[in-house]
Amino acid sequence: MASEFITLPSFATHAEGAEHFFGTRLSAIPVTPGRASAHRTEQQDHRAPVILSVKQVHGTDALVVDRPVEQGELFEGGWDALVTNQPGLMVTVRTADCVPVLLHDPVRQVVAAIHAGWRGAVAGIVPKTVALLASRFGTVPKDVRMAIGPSAGACCYEVDEPVLTQLRDVFPEWESVVSPVNPQKAHLNLRAFVRRQAMHEGLEGERIATVEACTICQPDEFFSYRREGVVKATMVSGIALVSSR
Ligand SMILES: [Zn+2]
Repeated sequence: MASEFITLPSFATHAEGAEHFFGTRLSAIPVTPGRASAHRTEQQDHRAPVILSVKQVHGTDALVVDRPVEQGELFEGGWDALVTNQPGLMVTVRTADCVPVLLHDPVRQVVAAIHAGWRGAVAGIVPKTVALLASRFGTVPKDVRMAIGPSAGACCYEVDEPVLTQLRDVFPEWESVVSPVNPQKAHLNLRAFVRRQAMHEGLEGERIATVEACTICQPDEFFSYRREGVVKATMVSGIALVSSR
């Protein structure tokens, strides 16, 4: 039975001061170019988080929000990682095959939402964001909890030589995340790749949880660019520090 949201029971819990979700196609939003703003959910409950959503550009830059954000505030630019230490601000990313990655440092109380496609992953968006948490907020990587959401899975995600060449250039263990199909093509396990990168950055394996779900071969639950060929809607995933007020 498909549900609107997937949550991981051991990650970013209220007891640890946070909340999170990975969206499915049942909670997907239509694609609207240029969307970049902070808004509150419909119920206008003052305790509901302000939701921050920005334009994504398949890069590695992070938007750091370390001050209160007003509903309706606009953020001009493009970022693929959103970082905040502000309770009540839900940082979100939108995906449909790319990997949504959520980070929570329960010691420093900082959260991040990351959009990691193969380009962003090869360019190191996950380790760069962990390093940013360390430099800006004093995060110790071994304290960080990480959740890797639904994405194109190793079962279906075929990539060709130009992608493999770039992967080999940056990741010596590339063979551990690739299954060859023929000399020019392979299936890439993008979730395992970002997990290994995070561990190289100092995260502990037992603090990394993965949703083992494939957007390409589970059409009842997820949208997929690969499968559908057109962009109809994207799935939203987010994380917030719980506001105590
Ligand atoms: Zn699959």
